[in-house]
Amino acid sequence: MKTNTLLQIAKDFGSPVYVYDTEMITSQYKRLTAAFSKVKQVKINYAVKALSNISVLKLMKTLGAGLDTVSIQEVKLGLTAGFLPEQIIYTPNGVSLEEIEVAAKLGVQINIDNLSILEQFGTKYPKTPVCIRINPHVMAGGNTNISVGHIDSKFGISIHQIPHIIRIVENTKMNINGIHMHTGSDILDIDVFLYASEILFETAKHFKDLEFIDFGSGFKVPYKKDDIETNIEEFGEKLTKRFNEFCKEYGRELTLAFEPGKFLVSEAGVFLAKVNVVKQTTSTVFAQIDSGFNHLIRPMLYGSQHEIENISNPKGRERFYSVVGYICETDTFANNRRISEITEGDILAFKNAGAYCFSMASNYNSRYRPAEVLWHNNKAHLIRKRETFDDIIKNQIEIDLSK
Ligand SMILES: *Cc1c(COP(=O)(O)O)cnc(C)c1O
Repeated sequence: MKTNTLLQIAKDFGSPVYVYDTEMITSQYKRLTAAFSKVKQVKINYAVKALSNISVLKLMKTLGAGLDTVSIQEVKLGLTAGFLPEQIIYTPNGVSLEEIEVAAKLGVQINIDNLSILEQFGTKYPKTPVCIRINPHVMAGGNTNISVGHIDSKFGISIHQIPHIIRIVENTKMNINGIHMHTGSDILDIDVFLYASEILFETAKHFKDLEFIDFGSGFKVPYKKDDIETNIEEFGEKLTKRFNEFCKEYGRELTLAFEPGKFLVSEAGVFLAKVNVVKQTTSTVFAQIDSGFNHLIRPMLYGSQHEIENISNPKGRERFYSVVGYICETDTFANNRRISEITEGDILAFKNAGAYCFSMASNYNSRYRPAEVLWHNNKAHLIRKRETFDDIIKNQIEIDLSK
C-alpha cells in the first residue's frame, strides 16, 4: 500500500489503526493454491485466530477458502460470516466434551487431539465423522515458544499412541474421516515438513475411511530483510508428488488440506500509530507512540521484529531509535532501530501486522482497542470501530459497598 494512502487512512480514521490489503491476501491465497494445482482436491482452511474480523472471513469465503477454528466462538463467527458448517474444521486443544458436542451439533468437522475425549466422543456419537490430530514429534523451527511438535507438547495425540487410538476406534466403531497435524508456527525447513508428512502418511494407512489429510500450517513469512521464508513453490512440488503417490497407494483420491493463518494475512497488514513524545535519555532516543502491547504484543511476547517505517518522513535521515509505547510497563517494540528521523506527531507504520496482532489485542490500562480498516478496490472501508468508554465499562457491575 502506498505511503500517502496510509497517511490518509491515519488521518481519516485516527490512530492507532490496523489496515489490511485485500489484494495482498488474495495473491497469497492464489500463490498457495497454485503451488498445489496438481493435486486433484485441495482445501485451504484459513486459521481464524490469526485475524478474525468478519469482513476478512468473508473475503476468505469469496476466495474459496474454508475455516480452521479453535473455539466455539470462532465457529459461530464463521457461520455468521456465511460459511457452511461443512466448510469449517474445529481444532480445539483441551476444551470440554460439552463444547465439542455443541460444535458437532452445528455440523462442523470435529478434530480431536486427546485420547480421553476421543473415547468419550466416539462412545456417544460413533456415527459423527471425526478427524484425529496427531503429534508427529517433529520440531519445525528452533524456537520452543512456537514449536508444538516436540515430545512434551500439549498438542495432538502422540504418534507412539497409535495402538491406543486404534483400540478406541475399534471398540467404539467410530468414523475417522481425517488425519491432521500442525507442527508449529515456523517451518524453517521443507525437508523437516516432508519428514513429518511421511509420519502422517504412515498413520493414515491405519484408517480405511479417510476423506482428507490435513497438514496444518507453519508457513514462514519474512518479517525483516533476509528472513527465511518458506519456498511455497518448491514445497508444493515436493509434497504434491508424495501426496499423489500416497493416494494411489491408499486406493482413493483424498483431499489435501492446509490451515494457514500467518501466510495469508501477515504481510497484508499494517499497524499505524502516532508518535506522542520523542524523549532523549543519557543513552537512548525513545519514540513513544500512542499504543503499547495492549494493541501489538508480538514483539514483547515472542521477540518478533516488525519492520517500522516513519511514513511521515520516509526519505529523512536515518537515526537510531527505541520505539516504545505508552503503557505503564515495559513495552518495547524495537530497540536501537534505524528509522528515518522522527518528529512528534509522525505516523509510524509497523509491517507484518495482519496476523496475531489485532486478534491478540486487549484493554490493558483501560485503553480502547484500535479501529480496523480494509483497503479493498482502492477504497478504505472501516471494518471495526475504535472502542469507546462504553466498551470499557459495559460488563462491569458497580455494587453498593455500604450494604
Ligand atoms: C494457529 C493454528 C494454525 C495457523 O498457524 P499459522 O502459523 O498462522 O499459519 C493452523 N492450525 C492450527 C491448529 C492452529 O492452531
